[in-house]
Amino acid sequence: MNESRAFCPRCGDPVPDRRGEGGANDPLRPGAEVDICDSCYFDDFEFIDAPDRIDVRVCAQCGAVHRGRRWVDVGAQDYTDVAIEEVSEALAVHVDVDDVAWQVEPEEVGPNTVRMHCYFTGTVRDTPVEEQVMIPVKIARQTCTRCGRIAGDYYASIVQIRAEGRTPTTEELERAKVIAEEIVADMEATGDRNAFITKTTETDDGLNMRVSTNKIGKKISNKMVEEFGGTVNDAETLVTEDEDGNGVYRVTFAVRLPPYIPGDVIDLTDDDEGPVLVSSAHGNLKGIRLRTGERYEASYEEGNAPDARKLGERGDAVETTVVTVEDERSIQVLDPETYQAKTISRPDYVDDDPDTVPVLKSRAGLHVLPDDV
Ligand SMILES: [Zn+2]
Ligand SMILES: [Zn+2]
Repeated sequence: MNESRAFCPRCGDPVPDRRGEGGANDPLRPGAEVDICDSCYFDDFEFIDAPDRIDVRVCAQCGAVHRGRRWVDVGAQDYTDVAIEEVSEALAVHVDVDDVAWQVEPEEVGPNTVRMHCYFTGTVRDTPVEEQVMIPVKIARQTCTRCGRIAGDYYASIVQIRAEGRTPTTEELERAKVIAEEIVADMEATGDRNAFITKTTETDDGLNMRVSTNKIGKKISNKMVEEFGGTVNDAETLVTEDEDGNGVYRVTFAVRLPPYIPGDVIDLTDDDEGPVLVSSAHGNLKGIRLRTGERYEASYEEGNAPDARKLGERGDAVETTVVTVEDERSIQVLDPETYQAKTISRPDYVDDDPDTVPVLKSRAGLHVLPDDV
């Protein structure tokens, strides 16, 4: 047994010898081999390191707090919440202390000042420690970059929703607005403070949306084309130069939705096989022949815009009485306008013995539509 004795390297009092156990913790002499005694330790011990006061800039519009060089959303309900948040950010607790607990009592002493009375407890060297500090928090109400931009109608990108040879439907326009809101919400959720919609305007031929970044404009237009088909073109306009002399561009994304949408009934110009009920406008137009029930797909060159005229829509169809199914290729129904029996083509989606069928009367005559679209 090695009977060794150790002494406090500062005052010379005997201390328990913990050499070799990694016990030395003189804050003034890191790496010292022997612990200083409790008395010397507590002479220098500082439980809490707190600033004399805290100045915090809060956006009066959205409650964001300025930290470092940027504005941060802290989700605070009121200025007291902000003060608590900032105090806990600014405090440092001595690393040796275990079981740290703290309470804080805010005291509002004016419209812009909150006194934070903080009470701390903990344990160090088997000794309970406590400390009270009062930190005044001064709040400066300002306007953050984002709220300033929103107030100034700032935008970096325009999304135009248009359609080829027609006006976009209400459904398409409403969907565009929802898509834009969802994209902005998703970006906000990841902490992006620069995502917002500046302005949405319905025009005679569609919808214009001014948005805060090019990225948002691009996402909205791509998503529209993904859902509805069509194309998007972007064009840059130089609006200004930044501090480094680099061009700052505003990008316009022009979405052109396809001329025909699912549910449209169209008559192809160079073709005498009868009307087509459109089922998809993604890529090449696809649909069903109303005379036969056969599938139709436009060629690559025609894409989503084959030469055609629109006869009507699925929604224009009316239910009419079947007089008789004559054979595989023909069916006799009542004309919904004249109530005269008429023999028309029987497409293969018509059952053997239906009582009624949905029909569309158009410039191209009377046609049976499929039941489910
Ligand atoms: Zn000592
Ligand atoms: Zn703000």
